[in-house]
Amino acid sequence: MNLINADAIKKVLQDNGVKPSLQRIKIYEFLTTQKSHPTVDEIFVSLAPELMTLSKTTVYNTLNLFVEKKIITSILVEENEIRYDSDITNHGHFKCIKCKKVYDFSYDLSKHAIAELSDCAITEYHAYIKGICNKCL
Ligand SMILES: [Zn+2]
Ligand SMILES: [Zn+2]
Repeated sequence: MNLINADAIKKVLQDNGVKPSLQRIKIYEFLTTQKSHPTVDEIFVSLAPELMTLSKTTVYNTLNLFVEKKIITSILVEENEIRYDSDITNHGHFKCIKCKKVYDFSYDLSKHAIAELSDCAITEYHAYIKGICNKCL
């Protein structure tokens, strides 16, 4: 999903039981166009000049609502740094320890049988890898 217009965003929000306020539309649009896995701070700093009444709390609450409604996912590569991702398909994240960028990689747990969990129902999984990206090497 690349650039999507305001009507399409409104529909995604409404279909998931979220009232599409201008701030919510802008936050979701930002996440779908910026594939950088931004933090609350990065989203706030980017949108504040355009949305004068926006507060960091609003951004935080909106992101929590989106996560709760499963419109986006939160990722926790670092313990003290929550990042947000509009790509809700299963994939892993690679964080470069030099440029701090977070890259997506395809990862499907169903292709890796885990013997110890064969009699458990897995509801969620996260794959995080750290290293140095090819641009920084
Ligand atoms: Zn890098
Ligand atoms: Zn991702």
